[in-house]
Amino acid sequence: MADWDWLGSDLQRLRDEGLWRDVRTIKSLPGGWCEVDGRRVRNLSSNDYLNLAHDPRVIAAAKEALDEFGVGAGASALVSGRSPWHERLEATICEFERTEAAVLFPSGYAANVGTISALVSDQDVVFCDRLNHASLVDGCRMSGARLRVYRHDRLEILERELRKSSGNGRRWIVTDSVFSMDGDLAPLVELCDLAEEFDARVIVDEAHGTGVFGANGRGVCEHFGVEERVSLRIGTLSKAIGTLGGFVACSISVRDWLWHSARTHVFSTALPPAVCAAAVQSFGLIGSEPERRQHLMSLSAKFRKLMAGRLLADGEGPIVPIRVEQPDLTQQMAAELLDAGFLVGSIRPPTVPHGTSRLRICMTAACGADEVESLARLLL
Ligand SMILES: *Cc1c(COP(=O)(O)O)cnc(C)c1O
Repeated sequence: MADWDWLGSDLQRLRDEGLWRDVRTIKSLPGGWCEVDGRRVRNLSSNDYLNLAHDPRVIAAAKEALDEFGVGAGASALVSGRSPWHERLEATICEFERTEAAVLFPSGYAANVGTISALVSDQDVVFCDRLNHASLVDGCRMSGARLRVYRHDRLEILERELRKSSGNGRRWIVTDSVFSMDGDLAPLVELCDLAEEFDARVIVDEAHGTGVFGANGRGVCEHFGVEERVSLRIGTLSKAIGTLGGFVACSISVRDWLWHSARTHVFSTALPPAVCAAAVQSFGLIGSEPERRQHLMSLSAKFRKLMAGRLLADGEGPIVPIRVEQPDLTQQMAAELLDAGFLVGSIRPPTVPHGTSRLRICMTAACGADEVESLARLLL
């Protein structure tokens, strides 16, 4: 038997520091509800922003493909795992994102790690936002490139670093479009300006942008009008799309390169065909029912207005971080909200820096304006 005693003291330290995480089992229900310990509560901790995961049409599309194609894809896309549904989903993404090509990945995490490590070389320099998602950071590390971290609220530092950087390799600026724990937007116009001035390429992770921001739901790049200035957009199917998987919207040459060299694509089993069928349906609904997105945005704006002064960052859109600071108080407030019928995220270190623990409230299009008002009353 291996000796795992050393884990015991590390685990105890997590408990002592108020950083212990209970991994809860919850049952998600239609209409943006969920069941926790036998009680039905409003789920404000999910990223299913548009309430598509339970949409009957999305479920029906998955069931039909499930009956025809079975549960698992059985192999990676390059071997034999790419079904007609994978091809249809790629075509749907191209049409939605208005790009020549798209590549699918098992998750958004895998899309970021695989894409960045395949495109960025160890001769390059990557400028990475301090608040970027772990998968972007891991992809940058795996590339072997020199990593420079900047703050998007202090772009003069990025500018200075870009000016200083030299060498034979390329320069890349890698950023989330919506910062997942702060809910604010990357300054994409300014980043594109800097990239153009200093010959860098911009890669944007639209995990929380797709389906939510932009007149057509293409994300924050659409919202700021920089789609043509950004080199590459990466997205996830696991959030507003309501399913699972990651994708890159790109040119044909980038697709061909990723098919050959993105290790998380080449060496991982393809998505289940039924998941692809569900995602195709979701993209259709995002196009045909813009009112979901509009309702989500107006609820988010209303809640932000009610909570002004208590927000951890000035942002826009459905991720609303309420400042608490101490981890144990954050836990306690989340427990009280749960008692009152709202499941919200309690976000503590190491996910966020010490002293910045927060309640992370994710609005959903399933919510009504009256619920947002009662939630704000509970918090104020
Ligand atoms: C959730 C998230 C991912 C990962 O996507 P998954 O499909 O859940 O693996 C990547 N980037 C950001 C910014 C995210 O919030």
